[in-house]
Amino acid sequence: MQHCDTLIVPRWCVPVEPAGTVLEGHAVAVSDGRIEAVLPLAEARTRFQPSVLVERPAHVLIPGLVNAHTHAAMTLFRGLADDMPLESWLREGIWPAERRWVSAEMVRDGTQLAIAEMLRGGTTCFSDQYFFPEIVAEAATEMAMRAVVATPVADFPSAWASNADEYLQKATDLVHDPYADHPLITTAFAPHSTFALADGSLEALRVLADQLDVRVQIHLHESETEVAMSIRDTGKRPFDRLTRAGLVNASLLAVHAVHLSDAEIERFAAVGVNIAHCPKSNLKLASGIARIAAYRAAGINVALGTDGAASNNTLDLFSEMRAAALLAKVSAGDAAALPAVDVLHMATLAGARALGLEERIGSIEPGKLADLVCVDLDALNCQPIYDVVSQLAYAASSSQVSDVWVGGRHQLDEGRFTQIDTDNLIARSNEWRDRIGAASAG
Ligand SMILES: [Zn+2]
Repeated sequence: MQHCDTLIVPRWCVPVEPAGTVLEGHAVAVSDGRIEAVLPLAEARTRFQPSVLVERPAHVLIPGLVNAHTHAAMTLFRGLADDMPLESWLREGIWPAERRWVSAEMVRDGTQLAIAEMLRGGTTCFSDQYFFPEIVAEAATEMAMRAVVATPVADFPSAWASNADEYLQKATDLVHDPYADHPLITTAFAPHSTFALADGSLEALRVLADQLDVRVQIHLHESETEVAMSIRDTGKRPFDRLTRAGLVNASLLAVHAVHLSDAEIERFAAVGVNIAHCPKSNLKLASGIARIAAYRAAGINVALGTDGAASNNTLDLFSEMRAAALLAKVSAGDAAALPAVDVLHMATLAGARALGLEERIGSIEPGKLADLVCVDLDALNCQPIYDVVSQLAYAASSSQVSDVWVGGRHQLDEGRFTQIDTDNLIARSNEWRDRIGAASAG
């Protein structure tokens, strides 16, 4: 008998790779934080002697969900500036709140709240771009959450840096130490948007990203106004400015990409640019509806993100999957667009690929990291079960997530956190509400 740390025995297992596979009567063995084997239960019982046996007879085991775009600390601004279009939401709502409130303490508290919310909903990896990224990385490490920590870069000053040079210097520091080859944290660069950076700053960022071999993510073509203002101010569309700066390549993650011309779609596909689709944020800010069916038909890798809780207003990838699938159908005028299997792929393996992590996470395969999620399908809203993947995409809610492992560590056990003190997180969030709320009212 071979020892393994954990043997998980769910009713179903949807490994995502191979696509469309639903296993029944299988077990997943985990050792040293990695998936050791996916095998029939009878074989697992004779081969493995587990330290911990986890039996989940009404559940489906899936890869941990990947949130390809968020601003975790903005959970503390949830509900603060609703019902505004993107430009006034930024200029009148969010940027003033950030100038007043963003600090290391705020980022720590907001990020911890966000990580707990994401884990509770089955997300095991998130890609974050926000000020004080070193605090985001610390919070993720302490809470044993996987994260891509993208350091913001802008020409405008913030509580974290005063100009593009300082942002880039701090970004470089974070890439080197202590996050080179870290088990949970990957670093990246996040120029906010083309309107936040002059051509010279974009080019300096590209030179540094090439030198350090880090990936780049940027808000791009989020609204028609963004594109129109770029043409007015620079004579070019944001995508053309990025192209000139040398930033359009396969390690670019374009966040939103709601408004792309047919030629831009072709260019994205030819070069291998990834897209982080954030349908609920795009709806709430009335930014538009991305033509996801066309993007995917062209061969673009499309991942799924929630964006920050100030424009969503949750970090729930189950509701995001549903929004993505439904919107893709109505915008394409085709009910067959983005079926359940594909939207689950988008929330897992496509997300991993968009972040450069597809060799490590995103599917349940031997050798990959054990980022795993059990969803309890023994709920009224999921009966009867003809098709497990259909239930996940169209009927299940994040509250049905029962178990979560990140790198083999059991973070959520039958709906209860094993290490996170949620009372403390809520108490600190209430303190922020008192401070921020009193200032807004005054
Ligand atoms: Zn964003």
